[in-house]
Amino acid sequence: MTVKPEPIILSQNGGGGSASGEGIPIGRGGRPVDAREDLVGLPTGELERALLALGEKPYRGRQVAEWIYARGARDFAAMTNLPHPLRTKLDQHYRIGSLRETARRETPDRKTRKLALTIPGGGIVESVFMTTPKRYTFCLSAQHGCGFACRFCATGRMGRGRNLAAGEIVEQALRLRRELPPGTQDFNVVMMGMGEPLENYDAVIAALGILTAPAPGGLGLSPKRVTISTVGLVPQIVRLADEGHRYRLAISLHAATDEARSKLMPVNRTFPLASLIRAVTHHVETTGRRVTFEYILIEEINDSIGDAAKLVRLVAQLPCKINLIPYNPIGPGKFKRPSADRIQRFVDYLSPRVAAVTVRYSQGVEIGAACGQLAGVTGEAPR
Ligand code: SAH
Repeated sequence: MTVKPEPIILSQNGGGGSASGEGIPIGRGGRPVDAREDLVGLPTGELERALLALGEKPYRGRQVAEWIYARGARDFAAMTNLPHPLRTKLDQHYRIGSLRETARRETPDRKTRKLALTIPGGGIVESVFMTTPKRYTFCLSAQHGCGFACRFCATGRMGRGRNLAAGEIVEQALRLRRELPPGTQDFNVVMMGMGEPLENYDAVIAALGILTAPAPGGLGLSPKRVTISTVGLVPQIVRLADEGHRYRLAISLHAATDEARSKLMPVNRTFPLASLIRAVTHHVETTGRRVTFEYILIEEINDSIGDAAKLVRLVAQLPCKINLIPYNPIGPGKFKRPSADRIQRFVDYLSPRVAAVTVRYSQGVEIGAACGQLAGVTGEAPR
């Protein structure tokens, strides 16, 4: 497959959307704005309409869908079952993808790889490829920045950015799929990158619709292999259940009392624990799926046996798994990861009292790719 050349840099300091001397619009970061519509993220029906608009038969839209989603084509030249003039016409009107890989960091064993992807208009989102003994997992971002300001999270320090479009989310998965070893097709998706997926509900659901659509219109991923992680947006949790989505739900809990949780996660003042647990119960009852509670262990903040006892009481009625995440450092601050002994003590208390407990030692801490560390600062030479 041919790689599309990067657009020529016309100006290093072009302001958002301003025009260059030749009248070519320049985006933030000094790149020309590509006015062609991105086809990534469009469902097959819309691709059929796009091809109809070019005077083609709808089946051409299905062929394009297959090239983009099933075969991972990165340009129209690769679409060898389309007539040459059509490929040229498509290239004049449309593009495949909007993101640019501007940096990447990999662990020495290459099991964890963090891609820094520049979004149109400027800004970097990060996506992480993770290898575990049993599977490959793609960690995707839903927003650039995040407005929820969780005290322990690097993305939260960036402040609110913008929602990603469905295509920008799908494209992250398409790019990470290229990282799989040859012959491997299976992967999981976790919406645990930058941003709050349920605040960008429509785009996330549209993107996941394409990831889980069977070929040729999608990537053929089972909904069971998709996890949406949320700070706990109650209305959207209810909506997910009521709309019948079959994705797994993970709740970033991190504390078991309103007082403690509001200090760590300001969103708790809007949706306190009682309302959150009610929404999660509704989700569990409607979908028949157990829920995962994520709980960062922070020394002296939420890692005592008293905290563990409150956690057990809070989730007692729910079929759930508790995923403990030893705190990952994100620069200056008062939070610390507890010692291995303290972590073990917490686990030993929980294990006999809840259905399932796991400890997630995040991958990629050394390359800033672990939970909570994504802040769009992957600084390495572009490649
Ligand atoms: N906004 C969503 C998606 C981000 S998921 C959510 O909050 O669920 C990222 C996960 O990593 C969340 O559970 C988050 O709380 C956790 N996390 C954030 N900062 C962390 C840190 N410094 N160490 C460990 N986990 C962290």
